[in-house]
Amino acid sequence: MTKERCPNCGGSDVATRIVNDCLRAADPRGKAFDLTLQLPVCRCRSCKFCWQGRDALAAKEAAYQHAIRKQLASQAST
Ligand SMILES: [Zn+2]
Repeated sequence: MTKERCPNCGGSDVATRIVNDCLRAADPRGKAFDLTLQLPVCRCRSCKFCWQGRDALAAKEAAYQHAIRKQLASQAST
């Protein structure tokens, strides 16, 4: 995991926790689907600010790619 710094106060005393999240996404054909994923959320211990860091973006991207591959696989088998 990348060490994040707080974008609010610049502090480095940052804790990361994993939350379950659900996003609405669209597949390459434009069909909407719900994407459930585990998202790492950063929280600054100094100013209590919460944000989604680079790891969260990477997690979203990975979950999206995984979901698309799964959809393609299920479409191919029907
Ligand atoms: Zn802070």
